[in-house]
Amino acid sequence: MKSFLSVRAREIAPYTAGEQPSDKQYVKLNTNENPYPPSPKALAAYRAFDFSSLRLYPPLEMRALREAVAAAEGVSPENVFCGNGSDEILALCFPAFFDEGGAGAAFADVTYSFYPVFSEFFGVPYTQVPLEEDFTLDLSELTAAKAQGVLVANPNAPTGIGIPLGEIEAFVRANAERVVILDEAYMPFFGQSAALLTKKYENLLVVKTFSKGYSLAGMRCGYAVGCPALVDALARCRDCFNSYPVDAVCQAVCAAAIGDGAYYAEKTALVVSERERLSAELAARGFSVLPSSANFVFAKHGEVGGREVYEQLRARGVLVRHFAKPRIAGYCRITVGSREQNDALLAALDAFLPR
Ligand code: PMP
Repeated sequence: MKSFLSVRAREIAPYTAGEQPSDKQYVKLNTNENPYPPSPKALAAYRAFDFSSLRLYPPLEMRALREAVAAAEGVSPENVFCGNGSDEILALCFPAFFDEGGAGAAFADVTYSFYPVFSEFFGVPYTQVPLEEDFTLDLSELTAAKAQGVLVANPNAPTGIGIPLGEIEAFVRANAERVVILDEAYMPFFGQSAALLTKKYENLLVVKTFSKGYSLAGMRCGYAVGCPALVDALARCRDCFNSYPVDAVCQAVCAAAIGDGAYYAEKTALVVSERERLSAELAARGFSVLPSSANFVFAKHGEVGGREVYEQLRARGVLVRHFAKPRIAGYCRITVGSREQNDALLAALDAFLPR
């Protein structure tokens, strides 16, 4: 039969998001969602929203949202771009900063698995720089890679390993001739954002999200901070796809959320303290746990394989993420949940791990 599909649609291997099975209620620790609810101020903004205004398109310039983000980040609204999740912004980075068939993108071999998908989709060649044996990234190797621009997730996913701000600044300086895209999706749990460095370095774009630290994964909003030239390039590319990617309710809720720093600082501290407890409890059960600066841990058991751990947990109603990929197939990525969720995970492990 004749195929009506483009070569791209036929051949692309899309990103696989974490599963959402509906056969029963799971303890869901597989997509790094925040266990706490959004800020009361965000919820109040939702309730106060004038839903009759939904007959209109949302604010095109997203002025109020960009002002709220700018105030929280210590930059100007001209330095802020907002999108439908940071995934959308990362996607737009490819047409905005990389030429099809050009010198390409460079990123780590073990990092956010959307980067190679975007590269393939937009026809951008890419180089994957191997992480060290201990899963740290030697930034000088990334600097040495031939590329039009580089992407670094900090903290990295799925390893959780964070790179100190001082090293990031030296890296941005060493790559002054090309764009550096820093994916700070998990930065709230590390607290070393490079967003303010965008005032100093025109080649730096910092991408963040409301999904993790702001407990708003269901709203789908992310933002980027950078100099106006980079922000404008993203906007021009966005306007070739969709002029209104961030809906009106989302704009209002996210603006309120980012204004409630005190609430989120408290919840983030709870996640961080649970992360430390969970890491220690996993180590006590025979896992080697990478040092995490994120809201998840990456752990490998000494005797039981990663796929087996994932399946045994799933059978007991606990979802974690397993990647059947070279170097990391022995590991599971486990989201740090509430104390109760983490206890449920530990109890499920105790039910099948060898003593
Ligand atoms: N970057 C990294 C490293 C992530 O793990 C995720 C979440 N899967 C994202 C970006 C995208 O998050 P969102 O689209 O929800 O903002």
